Amino acid sequence: MGVERELRAIVGEAGLGDADDPRFRHDATEAQALEGRPDAVVLPASTAEVAAVVRWCCAHDVAIVPRGGGSGFAGGCVPIHGGVVVALDRMTRVRAFDPLLWRIHVEAGLRTRELRRIARESGLLFPPDPGAAEQSQIGGNVATNAGGPHAYKYGVTGRWVTGLEAVVPPGDAIEVGGPLRKDVAGYDLKSLLIGSEGTLGIVTAVWLRLVPAPEAAIPVAAFYRDARAGCAAIERVLGSGIEAAALEYLDAGALGAARDAYPSPLPPDAAFMVLSEADGGTQEAARVAAELREALGDGALIVHSPDGPAETAALWRWRDGVSIAVTAKRGGKVSEDVAVPLDRLAEAIEATLEIGARHALEACSWGHAGDGNLHATFMLDRRDPEQLARAESAAAELFALAARLGGTISGEHGLGWVKSGHLGEQWSPATVRVHEAIKRALDPKGLMNPGKKAP
Ligand SMILES: Cc1cc2nc3c(=O)[nH]c(=O)nc-3n(C[C@H](O)[C@H](O)[C@H](O)COP(=O)(O)OP(=O)(O)OC[C@H]3O[C@@H](n4cnc5c(N)ncnc54)[C@H](O)[C@@H]3O)c2cc1C
Repeated sequence: MGVERELRAIVGEAGLGDADDPRFRHDATEAQALEGRPDAVVLPASTAEVAAVVRWCCAHDVAIVPRGGGSGFAGGCVPIHGGVVVALDRMTRVRAFDPLLWRIHVEAGLRTRELRRIARESGLLFPPDPGAAEQSQIGGNVATNAGGPHAYKYGVTGRWVTGLEAVVPPGDAIEVGGPLRKDVAGYDLKSLLIGSEGTLGIVTAVWLRLVPAPEAAIPVAAFYRDARAGCAAIERVLGSGIEAAALEYLDAGALGAARDAYPSPLPPDAAFMVLSEADGGTQEAARVAAELREALGDGALIVHSPDGPAETAALWRWRDGVSIAVTAKRGGKVSEDVAVPLDRLAEAIEATLEIGARHALEACSWGHAGDGNLHATFMLDRRDPEQLARAESAAAELFALAARLGGTISGEHGLGWVKSGHLGEQWSPATVRVHEAIKRALDPKGLMNPGKKAP
């Protein structure tokens, strides 16, 4: 095929992927039956190759779809309109690591888990911990500005990026920031690219800030009879000024889907879970854990704290598996990631169930309670187009709800394909126009990940 022949001349045989490989057609939104078909797949080995591919695509009016680990939940890397998928899998080098200066410079294709391992082996922590760490890449995390349970204390990915290298249309490699802790010289182009979901350029490398790893991390899990009791406990944690590292929740449906795998026995009437964690120096973590046990214990059926690092790891592994356990219930789900102000969390959790009931769909939610971020979910059989249509209507109601409660339609997964065009529900027309003007300025031909984020 002509496109492949020309791209082979840029990236060589080893840099050409198989466009028929089903892996390149999906991301984790697969359970929603979302699929695309690339015209070609390239796996560049250097920033120069990425730039040459983007230059070729821009010269030939061919769409470019950046792809990280494919763990996204918004269809962002799915080649819905075809085009050239640029997968960063081969760009995994650590370009520099200065443990004594708490910083690392890595290429975009490095997997999240690998990055965290490298930091940990030098006594450091890269705090962002989105759930699919074995699959996601740092470039994908930057492109979605990914969060995770510990974003409650440590913030989302963007907070840890001090510099980045990216390729923007028509094929220019640019650098902003670097191994710097402060830089206010120009417009904040770094933040503009963070969270841009591959619609402005391809991130090829990042400078990241690290912190000394906490000596101890002690999870505290509490179980309640209902959502109201659980949400009251969450508010107590906040109101008491306890600095938890994570503050998560699971409602009855999510807990029901995952409870059989929970690493210790649960009371049969447990219908809401709050999972928190204390970290820091050994004494500090123990003190905060005791405060959490007290604040969460009021009205709880049971409070459980795992004993030691192995049990702690097992608990977080279980938490990582919640999304998969919920999918397994019916084989598919439409799962959104709306976020609301904290004082509206209980309302949003209840409203998710009401919306599901109105559309005759089993619903549930879980998520990052401390950030007001819900994974509000409608379960379905993905072979049934009618159920899928009802779930999409339910999701549209959810977006309206988030906007009405003063929240956002995406707290962490981005808009991708599935929420593309919905910005106007939370922003005024003038604000949306500024967003569109930025897209036109950087990508005048509209070739960077078309149809994603803003239509
Ligand atoms: C089980 C599970 C749990 C999850 N938990 C969380 C969570 O806790 N928090 C959270 O935020 N997310 C979570 N996610 C979603 C997902 O893991 C994150 O969005 C992740 O950051 C995506 O990274 P990726 O490398 O897989 O990107 P992909 O899915 O490959 O791509 C995502 C988007 O980024 C763009 N992109 C990818 N790489 C680049 C690049 N180098 N340059 C420019 N654009 C690029 C793509 O075009 C696409 O728009 C979870 C997903 C799963 C499956």
